[in-house]
Amino acid sequence: MGKPTGFMEYERTEAGHRAVAERIKDFTEFTVPQSLEALNLQAARCMDCGVPFCHGGFVVQGSSIGCPLSNLIPEINDLAYRGETEKAYRRLTKTHPFPEFTARVCPALCEGSCTLGEHEPPVTVKEIERFVSDEMLQAGKALPRYPKMTTGKSVAVVGSGPSGLACADLLNQLGNSVTVFERAERAGGLLMYGIPNMKLEKQIVEARVALMRDEGIHFQVNTEIGNDYPVLALMRDFDAIVLCAGATQERLLAAPGSDLTGVVTAVPYLTASTKNLLDDTPMPVEMDARDKDVIVVGGGDTGTDCIATAIRRGAKSVSQFEIMPKLPEERAAGNPWPLWPRVFKTDYGQEEAIELFGKDPREYLTTVKEIKGDGHRVSSVVTVEVKWEDQNGRLAPVEQPGTERERPCGLLLTAMGFTGPERTLIDQMNLQTDPRGNVKADEEKYRTSLPTVFAAGDMRRGPSLVVWAIFEGIRAAKACDRYLRKSKNV
Ligand SMILES: Cc1cc2nc3c(=O)[nH]c(=O)nc-3n(C[C@H](O)[C@H](O)[C@H](O)COP(=O)(O)OP(=O)(O)OC[C@H]3O[C@@H](n4cnc5c(N)ncnc54)[C@H](O)[C@@H]3O)c2cc1C
Ligand code: SF4
Repeated sequence: MGKPTGFMEYERTEAGHRAVAERIKDFTEFTVPQSLEALNLQAARCMDCGVPFCHGGFVVQGSSIGCPLSNLIPEINDLAYRGETEKAYRRLTKTHPFPEFTARVCPALCEGSCTLGEHEPPVTVKEIERFVSDEMLQAGKALPRYPKMTTGKSVAVVGSGPSGLACADLLNQLGNSVTVFERAERAGGLLMYGIPNMKLEKQIVEARVALMRDEGIHFQVNTEIGNDYPVLALMRDFDAIVLCAGATQERLLAAPGSDLTGVVTAVPYLTASTKNLLDDTPMPVEMDARDKDVIVVGGGDTGTDCIATAIRRGAKSVSQFEIMPKLPEERAAGNPWPLWPRVFKTDYGQEEAIELFGKDPREYLTTVKEIKGDGHRVSSVVTVEVKWEDQNGRLAPVEQPGTERERPCGLLLTAMGFTGPERTLIDQMNLQTDPRGNVKADEEKYRTSLPTVFAAGDMRRGPSLVVWAIFEGIRAAKACDRYLRKSKNV
């Protein structure tokens, strides 16, 4: 424990954000990391409380408690306090292959369960993770780790999001020959095309992929399994397959007019924006936000990313509608520590909208009832307020008559979540699914209904978080490796 009295002496301080007026002119990261001195003091706030829920990594009542990867947080904090950054990085990477990603995009499940956080603001675990990993990567000290042995077994990993990358990384370290297949032109999954540059700059993803290539992993991009490469051939060519293809089916808005030009789902919009930044690919006309009233349906993080992107792409105004009620300012009675706090927050996109347009863009208990067009293109939407009422034992949103409002709209972005994985691979492999349509594979063996095929990440778990995807990738790699070592047939 760094400093026994640190938590009484020092207040929590957080990374700054670049000024809104400046940051909306570009797509670079909006956070400004804290200095070494500031982070040393933040690390000193860790109490080494004895039962560190922050590295718990379990789920209670559907809510995460602590870091799913079980990062050794008190030990890392202690080393960071002592200025032993390299040792802190080694300790961090014992459980976590890619801290540079979560240090930017994780909601910090650990901080929600920090013991200090029961009475005081929690330790800034995520910022310490960022400092430690950035220091090492920038100093060129995150060197390739070449596998020390080979098993002679080959594995195909389908999908290069965080679960696919984590799975490939460990399978390779364990001596297997690994090929990652990705249908997009760059590896990274939603880390590359989804999460915008302002949260995670793409050279960070590319640097990690380059390191993994150097370590011997083969990345085959522009290759869609089930289309460019038949599944039967894949099963013949590799000893095992791990499916990490995400839960990419977006929930669609079921309102009249949703087929009009200018009604776009979030991921294609965010993908087009990233491709424009990386490769100068022009933004499709139907996605153009310049001088338009942009409406975002969905109040989650993806909606926030759409707001921030539309602002940078010249939106005249932004509004965001959320069908659920506003979260409370403080933990509700049924949401005690150490559960993840389900409380109201204002994220970077809303912060920008408030400063630019003078009001919070969010309206709660509101949905879009109808989309109207001027010719083929969306011109306005009709919103309606809802109340959640019991209908045959289930809560359902009920439209409130007389609350309809027509609002001008030149671009409608829907960020209403995901319904599950695509069917192509599931159907072609004839895989069993769970009641939510995700690929069925248990949490120990990660094995699907086919003996040589494993599944991990959003494709198995359903839409989740980067840190859970990494957790699943690691677990699936261990299970697949165990199977390959035992198997006499391969
Ligand atoms: C806009 C957005 C923002 C988000 N922001 C955050 C955030 O800030 N923090 C956070 O923790 N989580 C965030 N998430 C959630 C997080 O990104 C996902 O939970 C995570 O990426 C899931 O990882 P995965 O590896 O399972 O799948 P994905 O990242 O979805 O990767 C799947 C990959 O498989 C590829 N693929 C699919 N089918 C095939 C095929 N047949 N052949 C070859 N390749 C295929 C896809 O092209 C894709 O690259 C966000 C999600 C979205 C949509
Ligand atoms: S990965 Fe997320 S939950 Fe785990 S220590 Fe880092 S910020 Fe916390």
